[in-house]
Amino acid sequence: MSTYNPEQALLNARREFGEHGGVAPSISRSATFTVMEPGDMPEIFDGVKGPDKGGCYLYSRHFNPTVDVLSRYLAAMENTEAAICTASGMSAISCALMQICRSGDHIVASDSIYGGTHALLSDLLPQFNISTTFVDITDLTAVKAAITEKTRVIFTETLGNPTLRVANLPALSEMAHGADSKLVVDNTFSPLMVTPSLLGADITVYSMTKFINGASDLLAGAICGPKQFILDLMDLHTGRVMLFGPTMDPRVAFDIIQRIPHLPIRMQEHSRRALAMAESLHEMGINVIYPGLPYHPQHGLLESISNRRYGFGGILALDCGTAEKAEELLGVLQNKEKFGYIAVSLGYFDTLISCSGSSTSSEISAEDQKKMGLSPGLLRIAVGYTGSLQSRVEQLTRAVKEVGLA
Ligand code: PLP
Repeated sequence: MSTYNPEQALLNARREFGEHGGVAPSISRSATFTVMEPGDMPEIFDGVKGPDKGGCYLYSRHFNPTVDVLSRYLAAMENTEAAICTASGMSAISCALMQICRSGDHIVASDSIYGGTHALLSDLLPQFNISTTFVDITDLTAVKAAITEKTRVIFTETLGNPTLRVANLPALSEMAHGADSKLVVDNTFSPLMVTPSLLGADITVYSMTKFINGASDLLAGAICGPKQFILDLMDLHTGRVMLFGPTMDPRVAFDIIQRIPHLPIRMQEHSRRALAMAESLHEMGINVIYPGLPYHPQHGLLESISNRRYGFGGILALDCGTAEKAEELLGVLQNKEKFGYIAVSLGYFDTLISCSGSSTSSEISAEDQKKMGLSPGLLRIAVGYTGSLQSRVEQLTRAVKEVGLA
């Protein structure tokens, strides 16, 4: 287990106070900024001046002071030189990949990833002549065999959505670097728990829509990495974030800034409850997938790469066998037991439950779902922290018994 303390790193990040000494930062809502001297403007466009070079802001699709505060927090938490926030997780992933890859390049990607990212790699990027080979990311021999001289990126989620396979980031990093490629990691399921940059990742991406924001009221993403990579993304003439324009609104940045301080407490509670539920389902003989259970195939690996104190994450999956049985259980959990809501997404304070095969992984063909170990009856439970833990476990237990799973 790593002893890295992201909470301390967050505390050490430069704090921004609001106008009149406000303990909360002010929201800088200007779309454009006054340039004090006429000679500054060409220097900003040449990259000679900027927010970090003379304090010059230009236009909020480029840098914005409030979004910059959040970006600094992300960089501190991720132990990277810099970060940039975007309007969604998908825009962070697509801009990061489009910044690295050119026509003719190749990506090796985990086959167990969010359906939208799978569709980006399998359907959209090939239209720009960027191809992807999908592999079981836990099979390092298969990863190595998929690498070609055109490979520029190995892409994985730390904890795969929704199968919860754990990627061996140190081994993948070694392979990527040996092939002159970059390891890009989507750490959406495991903020604070795992710090990919410490394990050799070059770029860490997030959907902050999930745990980091934690209130399911906005969409947001982030790209964390070396300073030069972030500057390249924001280059006024060529940067992918600049040119595709998935800009984060400063009001969104402000909301997330105010929620980052309780992310550690939230992650601990999500994890504590998910573990208790996984243990009781396991004791009832139910096929439950949770990386905190000692029999999970990558339990030891996750233990060895994760930071202390945040547990094994707030997501568990349970296999009901068929989609029909999964839907029956969904109905009882939401409408009878009031255990949670039938909804996609995760990281909310209430529990959100969905049948992944027919929802967030529906972009992936039935054949590929089978290959990645995704059963049509797999229910993903994004465990919240409302209500007492005991009452939630009782609700879950009654529901699985009612539908005949136990
Ligand atoms: N990455 C993962 C692991 C996800 O689960 C999701 C969405 O479910 C995304 C990325 C996309 O994020 P967003 O909806 O913020 O664009």
